[in-house]
Amino acid sequence: MLPSCRNMTELSSEYLAGKLSWSMRLKFRLHLMMCIHCRRYLRQFQLMLRLTPQISMDEELEEKQIDLIAQKIKQARQ
Ligand SMILES: [Zn+2]
Repeated sequence: MLPSCRNMTELSSEYLAGKLSWSMRLKFRLHLMMCIHCRRYLRQFQLMLRLTPQISMDEELEEKQIDLIAQKIKQARQ
């Protein structure tokens, strides 16, 4: 039996992380072949995953900049 669309959304993160067993992957892919909704969902999910690291990197950069500014303020006071 193939997973339902609701199951597919739950399985997506595990599928992309490579955590599904081969039989589940097969069922997952069979469902994808037949279901445009889940194909679309998975594409959006992948896009979101790809964008997420960039966001966290930007946050890190911002934190470093804040540190740098804080250091400069400290140095100016001394
Ligand atoms: Zn579906």
